Amino acid sequence: MSNVRDGINTNPRFVIVGAGMAGILAAIKLKERGNNNFTVYEKAHEVGGTWRENSYPGVACDVPSHLYSYSFAPNPQWSHFFSPGDEIFKYFKDVAQRFEIYESIHFNSEVKKMTFSDGAWEIEIEDGEKDKADYVISATGVLHHPNYPNIEGLDDFHGYKFHTARWNHSVDLSDKSVGIIGTGSSAVQVISALAGSVKELNVFQRTPQWVLKVPNLEISDEDKGRYMNDPAMLKTVRDELSTLFEINFANAVVDADSNEAKMLQVMCEMNLNDSVKDEVLREKLRPGYRAACKRLVVSPNFYEAFSSSSTNLITENIKRVEPDGIRLADETFIELDVLVLATGFKVDMFMRPIEVIGLKEESLEHVWEERPSAYMAIAIPDFPNMFMLNGPNGPVGNFSLIEVAELQIEYIFALIDFAREQSNGSKNSLKHGIIHPKHAALEAFESERVEATKHTVWVTGCNSWYLDDRGIPQAWPWTFTRFREEMNSPRFEDYELVP
Ligand code: NAP
Repeated sequence: MSNVRDGINTNPRFVIVGAGMAGILAAIKLKERGNNNFTVYEKAHEVGGTWRENSYPGVACDVPSHLYSYSFAPNPQWSHFFSPGDEIFKYFKDVAQRFEIYESIHFNSEVKKMTFSDGAWEIEIEDGEKDKADYVISATGVLHHPNYPNIEGLDDFHGYKFHTARWNHSVDLSDKSVGIIGTGSSAVQVISALAGSVKELNVFQRTPQWVLKVPNLEISDEDKGRYMNDPAMLKTVRDELSTLFEINFANAVVDADSNEAKMLQVMCEMNLNDSVKDEVLREKLRPGYRAACKRLVVSPNFYEAFSSSSTNLITENIKRVEPDGIRLADETFIELDVLVLATGFKVDMFMRPIEVIGLKEESLEHVWEERPSAYMAIAIPDFPNMFMLNGPNGPVGNFSLIEVAELQIEYIFALIDFAREQSNGSKNSLKHGIIHPKHAALEAFESERVEATKHTVWVTGCNSWYLDDRGIPQAWPWTFTRFREEMNSPRFEDYELVP
């Protein structure tokens, strides 16, 4: 409960929504600041977010493991350059354990409603439980709500059917004809893992993807030992990977004319040309747009999947799903026992469907009616003291969202300290301030952001989940260096305090 005495808040209370990578981070960082007055509400039974939900064969992170780790919790034991999903899931559970976060998490507790009232947030949980907080940190993830395709007959399929993020592990696939719709990052990992180990694998490709080949090397026991004994070496590895990713990916995608963006193109073309000898197959796999326009797929062995005689690439459009398989536009019928939907996510949901009511009794659903937006991807006018990690239009792409969230949480704390300071004359004062961005600041930010997206590779002629309903990338269109600078030096003048 909020600890208010004579208008003085002696120990501001936080509620964190979600116990995935970002929620665990927020909890650890609050404790580091000496604030233990918080609860994390998690709708599922365990921490780990995306790594709990995605357990499909081949799941891994295509950001190198030593970079996809918290800066304050390096892991000398990563097994591979790109470690598998279950290892990443275990990492988050271990970190939550080590930093004693579990005791602050309410599991199976989906937040239903949050209302800003009388200077604080009232939070309603699905079981009727209520809470009150001075600050809310929303850490609900981006790629979180499965996108089920609108294909005629999908519900009539008689075999097993599931989305990659809802994998049905009870089905033995070895003697089955499996169909997989989609060729994005998830599909590529599933296809590589299943090729040759199922009766038949039918890949339904609507649009080809550029694939960057990066070998997934095992990390030797010798190297693990070195990392264990020499934390400075481990930090150097992380820092070097961070710089490499920043230059080669983060900065490349925001400048379509850059040499780095052109180099990605060359490397992807080389991978396709060198890996696929069959000319007809190669051309079917060749995208008609630039590399990294869609989110770049990274794989050590995707094209090799098609060297298995039981893997078929189907490029004819899907006409409809029938009870026993898929009917193509040219009337060919592909019989299937299992249908895997690797069809991505609804990326504009963020903390919704939570009902969020702000300062002016307006719902977030209404404010985001057209599309979601947030100042600096973090804060929304009239929704004071509510901050998002990995919120709308933030950095996305082939780099570590952990690095992003670590910068964002420090920005949020800087805002909170500023608000307290402004309210009381000292950041250590007991009264908490109520802060939100100005409408004009969000408008200026959005118009500058939209203008900057014109130079990105995301608008060079493809369709992707990066694009909003207007075809404008819903992402950070500037360099990662700028993101770091913005996060390290908040523009306090763009915020206002609620009296
Ligand atoms: P995605 O990139 O959105 O890919 C969805 C796929 O489904 C596309 O190939 C799309 O085709 C196809 N599709 C959708 N609706 C369809 C329909 N009605 N008919 C036929 N095909 C349809 O989804 P994802 O692969 O799950 O990846 C989403 C994001 O998750 C990635 O971009 C990445 O950011 C993240 N991810 C990361 C990793 C990692 O290793 N770090 C792994 C997996 C996922 P079109 O291209 O024609 O639209």
